[in-house]
Amino acid sequence: MAGKSTPMMEQYLALKAEAGDDCLLFYRMGDFFELFFDDAKVASGILDIALTARGKDSGEPVPMCGVPVHAAEGYLARLIKAGCRVAIAEQVETPEEARERAKREGKPVSKVLVKRDIVRFVTAGTLTEDALLEPRRANVLAAVCEVRGMIGIAHCDISTGRMELEECAPEAMGAALARLGASEVVAPEGWTEAPEQATLRPRTEFASDEGETRLMAIHEVATLDGFGDFSRAMLAAAGGLVGYLDHAGRGTLPFLLPPVISSGEARLAMDAATRSSLEILASQQGERAGSLIAAVDRCVTGAGARQLAEDLSAPLTSRDAIEMRLALVTFFHQDPLLRADLREVMRSVPDLVRALGRIVAGRGSPRDLGQVRDGLAEARRIRDHLAGKPDRPALLEALLPAMAGHGALVDHLQRALVPAPPTTRDQGGFIATGYDAALDELRSISGNARRAIAALEARYKGETGIAALKIKHNGVLGYFIEVPAKHADALMAPDSGFTHRQTMAGAVRFNSLQLHEEATRIGEAGGRALAAEEAHFEDLVATVAAAREAIAATAAALARIDVAAGQAERAAEGDWCRPTVTDEHSLAITGGRHPVVEAALHKAGVRFVPNDCALAESDRLWLIGGPNMGGKSTFLRQNALIVLLAQAGCYVPASSATIGLVDRLFSRVGASDNLARGRSTFMVEMVETAAILAQATERSFVILDEVGRGTSTYDGLALAWAVVEAVHETIRCRCLFATHYHELARLAETCDALSLHHVRAKEWKGELVLLHELSEGAADRSYGLAVAKLAGVPPHVVKRAKSVLDRLEKGRAETGGLAAGLGELPLFAAAMEEVEEGTGDTLRTRLAELDIDALSPREALDVLYQLKNEASQTET
Ligand code: ATP
Repeated sequence: MAGKSTPMMEQYLALKAEAGDDCLLFYRMGDFFELFFDDAKVASGILDIALTARGKDSGEPVPMCGVPVHAAEGYLARLIKAGCRVAIAEQVETPEEARERAKREGKPVSKVLVKRDIVRFVTAGTLTEDALLEPRRANVLAAVCEVRGMIGIAHCDISTGRMELEECAPEAMGAALARLGASEVVAPEGWTEAPEQATLRPRTEFASDEGETRLMAIHEVATLDGFGDFSRAMLAAAGGLVGYLDHAGRGTLPFLLPPVISSGEARLAMDAATRSSLEILASQQGERAGSLIAAVDRCVTGAGARQLAEDLSAPLTSRDAIEMRLALVTFFHQDPLLRADLREVMRSVPDLVRALGRIVAGRGSPRDLGQVRDGLAEARRIRDHLAGKPDRPALLEALLPAMAGHGALVDHLQRALVPAPPTTRDQGGFIATGYDAALDELRSISGNARRAIAALEARYKGETGIAALKIKHNGVLGYFIEVPAKHADALMAPDSGFTHRQTMAGAVRFNSLQLHEEATRIGEAGGRALAAEEAHFEDLVATVAAAREAIAATAAALARIDVAAGQAERAAEGDWCRPTVTDEHSLAITGGRHPVVEAALHKAGVRFVPNDCALAESDRLWLIGGPNMGGKSTFLRQNALIVLLAQAGCYVPASSATIGLVDRLFSRVGASDNLARGRSTFMVEMVETAAILAQATERSFVILDEVGRGTSTYDGLALAWAVVEAVHETIRCRCLFATHYHELARLAETCDALSLHHVRAKEWKGELVLLHELSEGAADRSYGLAVAKLAGVPPHVVKRAKSVLDRLEKGRAETGGLAAGLGELPLFAAAMEEVEEGTGDTLRTRLAELDIDALSPREALDVLYQLKNEASQTET
């Protein structure tokens, strides 16, 4: 196919044009998928496979690489992970069919090309294959667009069929998408606000009437009113989502449950920065290991783990809903035997909903049908077991009915399928004996014929006296008789009853009338048996698909039970407690621990020191100081995680916890602490902090870890100061603020709901001992030098640092504190410089009018902060 003019190249280029530039084309050639041109270069790089060239001799070689069809899934998985999309072009007719077609069309048979079509687009958000999916992670596809100033978001997990629609203001789009953690986002072409990396699709697909029509068609209803009151923006996004699924599946839509409105209101709001800083589903390194979910997940099924991930991503804000989940955990917590039995049984329950997803998407196998059968049968047994227990909580009562009621379907599948059906159906053998008498008959015909062939072999051996005579089978010749070359003459004789078929190096192959007859019987019966199995398969698929909503509900009920039993297990393992949720603006945790840090320390044989946290209306802001490495960050995060777990309906790592419901959770880490992320600049830190000041409410919980560290000391101090004040006075939310700035302690004088705390440390015989224990009162010092020593900074450097520190501290004492010394401080100089450079007269005049020395330290810094703010605003 070198040179662009060959028919194959023309076909390739046409398919490639259809696939689009942003999509690799897997072009089926025999047992391989081949890639050409730039596709080949990209794929060979990612897959680390050889890049070759086709048509090297023709002067215009084409770069190419290929992957074997039987191993394609593994390669696809790697390409998808690397962010690629792949179009699969299959041969859609056999070479014989192609020749027949050529004859009919009167074209030269020798030049005819097998027809190929793109049968599917494989993209991150549209996977259903087990090999390509992570069992414990949901795979979310989201579509987003804007309609009259509102953002519509439609999202689904096609491996489970769940579809939700929501709407939000443009500024909340980022947080909403962060919550979803979508594998792929689709947006209209030409939309300037489209999320980065979004897959762009024609604008016409994102139309609300289009969305409405498509959803009505999928669910065979005349109106969507029964599902919810969807806005134009939601429907437009749904149109984009379904349009994309249709495109990716080439007209076969995956399994979709009726859409529901996911209400942003009923969820604990967390923005992207908070999610990443709390490491909820992945650590800062992007791994599951080291994340919250890795520390709390004890689910025994993939579906349970996915449900837990969803619970932790979107904790609740309704007390009743939280209590419902907690009561189910308690039910399993109180009955260890029941829990152990249940978990043992659950372990072997197949991934019902993913099997269902494949079946409905037209990619199901006999094994998937078997999984539906087994999953439903197990669900029934689990239901019966649980229904016999006393004191069942309300949530369990609500789930039990969904787990039964499939009796007829299970019975049907049990009769129809063999116990362990295969993953492919081209060999047949998956329909059970006794299900279809005609099929059994066909099978016995070929069975008899096979026995007849074995008898023939024995007979021919006897008659010819050739002990080495064998009857064999291969794909090309079918059945044949083979004898070593030296015995061939006897069978060559015209009246021998054998006809010559093929001469090999050391053997000669023959046919005979009887063999031909038996082989034909096998072939015919086999072909008809395969066709019969195929027809049964289609029927079974249709039967299962018709019950898809009920099956999905069963799977969801099992997942919810697995989550609750798993959380009960986790709680028992770590001595966790059931939190109490209230409507008050308070937080009272005793003996709180950080689940991830505790688990890591546990492995190293180190004890985690539990700490209390008590925030109330009158004491809602804790300023926490203490040495580096003392445990400040850990303390901040553990309290945020306890709130998150409680509102997700989980037990928490503490002796007791009373959580006043939180509406928004914010976690911020100062830039200096966060360099590992690479993108952390002081600017990012400030943008994120600004978001808190704009969005937090009285009901929110905010943790701020060394905010203000990413710039020069006094700028940072000034900012930290102003932020604490704003949180205390304006927002009035619960807040933990960790800082090394001792100066901030003075805020306690003016902020009445602010109290000072520190993590304790001792110096013992010149060595620093970190106690990781929280105490009341201000920190006396940071022990920065002691920590430096611990970390292995050479002694002479530490010594020199000590003398510098002494001088600095003495200087500060002499000038009588910050206010008096302000004029000489580098902060002031730097601020002056910036102000003057940036904005000219007004500010300079105002600055001159101020009698800086007469101001209190706080006022002075406030003024500077304001001036700088104004300066930067004027600049922009
Ligand atoms: P820095 O000011 O340098 O950022 P920090 O005070 O925020 O430090 P953390 O990062 O919270 O300190 O904790 C440092 C280490 O101390 C942790 O990695 C952990 O190993 C240990 N640690 C923290 N809290 C505890 C605790 N409660 N019990 C035992 N070990 C702890």
